[in-house]
Amino acid sequence: MAEAAAKIAEEVLFPAAAAVDRSDRVPAGHLDLLADAGFYDRAGDDLPEVVEILASGCLATTFVWIQHLSPLFTAGAALRGRRAGIAYAGLAPGSDLHVQGGRLSGHVPWVTGWDLIDVVQVAVREGDQIRYYLLDAVAGPTLEAELQELVAVQASRTVSLTFDGHPVPEELLVHTEDYEPWSQKNASGSSLNGFLSLGLVRRVSRLLDGAFDDELTACRALLADQERTPQARAAASALAWKAAGALVTRTGSGGIRAGETAQRLAREAAFLLVFASRPSIRTELYRRMTS
Ligand SMILES: Cc1cc2nc3c(=O)[nH]c(=O)nc-3n(C[C@H](O)[C@H](O)[C@H](O)COP(=O)(O)OP(=O)(O)OC[C@H]3O[C@@H](n4cnc5c(N)ncnc54)[C@H](O)[C@@H]3O)c2cc1C
Repeated sequence: MAEAAAKIAEEVLFPAAAAVDRSDRVPAGHLDLLADAGFYDRAGDDLPEVVEILASGCLATTFVWIQHLSPLFTAGAALRGRRAGIAYAGLAPGSDLHVQGGRLSGHVPWVTGWDLIDVVQVAVREGDQIRYYLLDAVAGPTLEAELQELVAVQASRTVSLTFDGHPVPEELLVHTEDYEPWSQKNASGSSLNGFLSLGLVRRVSRLLDGAFDDELTACRALLADQERTPQARAAASALAWKAAGALVTRTGSGGIRAGETAQRLAREAAFLLVFASRPSIRTELYRRMTS
């Protein structure tokens, strides 16, 4: 799959990345290409490499696609070929998201891919369980979607959702799991998301004659160590930030012009400092950046 990803990244995604950055949505054709290559149907052992390669082409496109992977594992056949996004931020402490009498109410601050996805997998905590519902990604009287204005990956169409008595019949329930073990695992964050940062570093390194190749290799190895995910995620974000800065510096003043790769990657590196973070990652990243 890595080979197919490389072809798409080099021939289609990277050449279009500046235009996508300026547009309000990832082209449907990009996502169709990923679907044609099977990336919406299966995830192989080389998934981290695929994520890194695709992200080196276009972060916004990869960001929309990567949301689908969690439902691919949890909802599986229930997806029936539909493209999915996720709404998990309602699991964060203090969330008002809840189900009562088969109706969902509350706020989810971040959902990527609105208008580019068919369904959204919403995670709701109910007592000591998490319940995942697969809902049509369509706004209506009981579901309001508000587009977030971002300085990077705006084309990912990231929205906040507000549910107001939205029906969630039992047939839309696709998965359940216990909250406690999930919460312990969740506290470290996902190592896969670290490969989005490495995609950016991969691109910079290519543009700077391999300047970051050694650090890239070391960071990949760190992300493979499941015992050290917060440290690895922090290292990946910090490396992306450093690499983007190096590219701006080497490019010179022209790099800060709208449409230039250097400034786009710098904005994307800022996004990668915070996206899918967790307190453990943030603490480690902040320590690195202030020492
Ligand atoms: C542009 C953008 C797009 C995003 N798109 C999506 C999306 O499509 N779907 C989605 O679910 N999330 C999405 N997120 C949210 C993201 O996964 C993280 O939740 C968020 O980046 C962490 O935010 P924070 O730094 O404010 O939280 P922190 O201050 O790090 O966390 C506060 C508390 O909430 C918990 N927490 C934070 N986020 C989550 C979460 N997602 N699940 C469970 N617990 C959590 C933490 O463990 C901690 O206890 C997006 C974020 C951004 C910036």
